[in-house]
Amino acid sequence: MKNLNTAKQIIQKALNSDDLFLERITGLSETLNTLLKGYIPDGFIEDLKDLDKLPVKKKRAFLDYLYKAVEHAVNIYSENRQETKKVLPKELKDITVNNLKILKPIEKRAFKKVGLRTVYDIFFFTPKKYEDRRLKKLGKVKDGEHGLFEVEVVDIKKIKKGKLKTELKVKQDRYFMNVFFVHDKPFLFSFFRKGKKVYLYGKISIFKKDISMIQPEIFKDFDPIIHNRILPVYSLKGDSSVKITSQTINHLRRGIFKILKDFLNYYTDYMPEDILKRYGYPDIKRSIKNLHFPENYLDIIQLNNFETIYQKRLIFDDLFILQLAQLYRKNILRSDPAEKINIKEKFLKEFESKLPFDLTEDQKKSISEILSDLSKPIPMNRLVQGDVGSGKTVVAAAAVVAAAIDNKQSAVMAPTEILASQHYLTFKNILKNFGITPYLLTGSLPQKEKKKIYRLIHSGEAKVVIGTHALIQDELKFKNLSLVVVDEQHRFGVIQRKALIEKSHKIPHTLIMTATPIPRTLQIANFGDLDISTIKQLPKGRKPVETVLLYEDEKKALYNKISDEIKKGRQVFVVYPLIEESEKIDLKSAEEGYKQWKSVFPDRDVLLLHGKMSQEEKDNIMESFRKGKGDILVSTTVIEVGVDIPNASIMVIEDAHRFGLSQIHQLRGRIGRGQYEGFCYLILPSRFKRKFENKDEEKRRIQTIERLKILVKTSDGFKIAEEDLKIRGGGDIAGTAQSGKLNIGIADLSRNTDQKILQKAKYEAEMLINKDPYLRHHTVLKKIVFERYGERFDLVNIG
Ligand code: ADP
Ligand code: MG
Repeated sequence: MKNLNTAKQIIQKALNSDDLFLERITGLSETLNTLLKGYIPDGFIEDLKDLDKLPVKKKRAFLDYLYKAVEHAVNIYSENRQETKKVLPKELKDITVNNLKILKPIEKRAFKKVGLRTVYDIFFFTPKKYEDRRLKKLGKVKDGEHGLFEVEVVDIKKIKKGKLKTELKVKQDRYFMNVFFVHDKPFLFSFFRKGKKVYLYGKISIFKKDISMIQPEIFKDFDPIIHNRILPVYSLKGDSSVKITSQTINHLRRGIFKILKDFLNYYTDYMPEDILKRYGYPDIKRSIKNLHFPENYLDIIQLNNFETIYQKRLIFDDLFILQLAQLYRKNILRSDPAEKINIKEKFLKEFESKLPFDLTEDQKKSISEILSDLSKPIPMNRLVQGDVGSGKTVVAAAAVVAAAIDNKQSAVMAPTEILASQHYLTFKNILKNFGITPYLLTGSLPQKEKKKIYRLIHSGEAKVVIGTHALIQDELKFKNLSLVVVDEQHRFGVIQRKALIEKSHKIPHTLIMTATPIPRTLQIANFGDLDISTIKQLPKGRKPVETVLLYEDEKKALYNKISDEIKKGRQVFVVYPLIEESEKIDLKSAEEGYKQWKSVFPDRDVLLLHGKMSQEEKDNIMESFRKGKGDILVSTTVIEVGVDIPNASIMVIEDAHRFGLSQIHQLRGRIGRGQYEGFCYLILPSRFKRKFENKDEEKRRIQTIERLKILVKTSDGFKIAEEDLKIRGGGDIAGTAQSGKLNIGIADLSRNTDQKILQKAKYEAEMLINKDPYLRHHTVLKKIVFERYGERFDLVNIG
C-alpha cells in the first residue's frame, strides 16, 4: 500500500515535469518496477522494462496510462483496509438467509432447494457453468453464439415446417432475424405485437447470411440482474420436497445477487497479502463477485473452464487451506515423541535371507523407508501403496519383525474377521522364520481364549497381535505398543485408530497399506499428512489377469468357458454394480442376476452375497467359498476388499460401464493369484454395440468402450488410476470412491489448471507452515482450517 502511494507520487511528479526533464530522467523503469510488482497486472510490468528508452511523447502517454492503473490498485487495496465493520467468516456463517428481509419468499425457497442456509454458504456456492446473456448486435454475432437481443417485432405467423409451428420476424437496426417456435399458443401472438420492442435469448444460427433462432427465451422488460450479463448456472439438485419451475434458477440468481451486494463488503480477506501478490491474485471480494456474476468483458470459454484469475484464486484458496490442514496435522502428529525402535544395520539383508523369495526393488525401498522412520523418535505416519498382489504384507511384516526383535509390540488391524485371519496366516508364515508367534484376536473368539491373549499382550509376551475391532476393547492393555499396521485405510475410521493409539504409552508408529493406487495429484491433495512408499513392480513370474470385453449377447461363449473351468475344479466370481437407493435407472440387481446365473447353471452351486447382509453372513459365505464350497459366487462390489480366493480363475463384471476403472482393476486382482491363470470378462449391454443416434450419447458410448479397453491393455494400477482421474470429467463413472476426492470446494482436480494450481498451493502452504508450524501467527487462516477440516482430520488445537 505504501509502495503504491510512493509510486503514484513518482509518476505524478514525472508527468508534471517538462519534456526535457522527462526525456533525460533515468531509473524510472526500475524504481516503478520494484514498487509496483504484484500490485498491477503483469502486462504493465512487462512494458515497464522499456520505459526509460521510450521517446518522450510515448513515455508521457504510458505514464499517464500507468497512473490510472495505480490509482485503481490504490482503490482496491484501500477498500480492504478501511473497513470499519470487520466481520469474520464465522460471523457470516451465523447469518441465516431465512431471517433476511431483503429476500423474497420465492428466493428463500430457491435457497432451500439447493441447501443454502447462510450468507457464507452462498458466497462459496459454485456455479457449474456460465451462460452468455450479454446484449449483442445482430450485425456482429457469429453462427452458434448465444446472446440476448433487443429487437423489434416485424411480423408473426403460423407455419408448418416439420416440428415448427410459428414463425416470428424481428429486426435490429438494418438486420433481420427469423425466429421459430415449436408451438402456436395464442399468447405468442399477443406477446409479439407488430412494432413492439422485446428481448430474446437464444443461440444464433447463420446460414448464407440468414440469421435465425429456434425457441428462444422471451422477455418483455429488461431486468438488470439477469440481463446483459454472463450468468451463472447453478445445479438445482437438492431438497426433493421443494419443487422447481423454469424460474427457480432466476430466483436463485436474484437472491444471490442481493446477498452479494449487501454482505460481500463485510468479508475480509483471509489470505496473506504476499501470496496474493506473488500470483497476481485479486482480493476475495472481487473474486467471489466474479465467481457468481462475472464482469462482462471476461471470456465465456475461460469462465467455463474455470480459468479466469478470479476463479483461479478461489481454487488456489481451497487447495491451499487443505494443504495447510494436512501439514498442520502432520506437525501435530509429530509433536509427541514416539518410541524409537533400534534396528540392526544388516536387518534388511537378514530379513530377506529368511524369506522363500527375493524381494522386489520396490519392496526393498519401501522397507528401507519404513525402517528409517521407525528408528527415529518421531511417530511414523506412512502409507504403503501397491496393486493387489504387489506384496505389501511382507513389507509390513518386516516392520513388525524389526519391532519384535527390539522387544516392542505391534498390532495389525483388519476391517473384517476373514481378512484378519488371512493376514494372520500370512504373517505367521513369515514370522516363524524369526521365531516370532503372532496372535489372532477377533470378536468371535471364545471368551476364555480372548482372556488368555489379553494376558499375553499385557505382559508383553505377545509381540504381534493381528485382529479386528476386538483390538480396541477397553479391557485390552498393551505393555509397549509401538507399531500399528492398518490395512485398507478407507475402511477404518479415525476413531478406531485413535483408540488404539491411546492404548500405548507413547504415540505408536503407524503404517497404512492400501491397494488403491493413488495418482500423484491426489496424493498431494489428499495425503499431505502422510509419507508414501510405493510398490509398482509385481513379484517375478506373476501373470497379469487376461481381460476381455464382451457384449451381453455374446455371453454364450463365456458360459462354455465357465463350464470348462468349473469342471477343472476352478471357481467363478460374478460381480454386479452396487445399486444406490437414489438411483432410478433399472439395473439388474445382484439378486436378479443370481437367479439368472442359477438358471444358466442349474447343476452348479451358485452362491449370493450382497451389501444388505450382515458382516457375519458375508464373512461366512466368503469363508466357505474360499474353502472351495460353491462354484459361482454372485455378488455386489462388497468383495472388493482383499480376500484371496486362490482357486478362483474367472471374474465376470456385469454392467462394466457402471464401474470405475480402478474399481474393476481391484476386483480382478482377486483372481489368478494361486497357481492358475486368471480371466476377467467385462460385460457391456448389447445396446453398446451399435451407434447411438444422439450425438452426446454416441460420444459417451465410444468413451465408455475406450475407457474399458484400457483395462484390457494394461495392468498397471497407477496408469489406470490416472485414466480414471482424466475421464472423470465425462461424468459417467457412477459413484466411484475417487470422485469425492476430486472436488474440494471450487477446485476440481480432474482439471489440468487445478492440478497446476495445486502445486503452487502446496509450495505456499509448506513455506507458511515452515515459518509458523502451528499457525500461531495466522489466526484467521487457522480458524478456517479448523472450520473446514477440524473434524475430518481430527485436528487438535495447539495454541
Ligand atoms: P498384497 O500387496 O495384495 O497385500 P500380498 O502381500 O498378499 O499382496 O502378496 C501376494 C503374494 O505374493 C503372497 O503370496 C506373497 O507371499 C507373495 N510375494 C510377496 N512378495 C513376493 C516376491 N518378492 N516374490 C515372490 N512372491 C512374493
Ligand atoms: Mg494384502
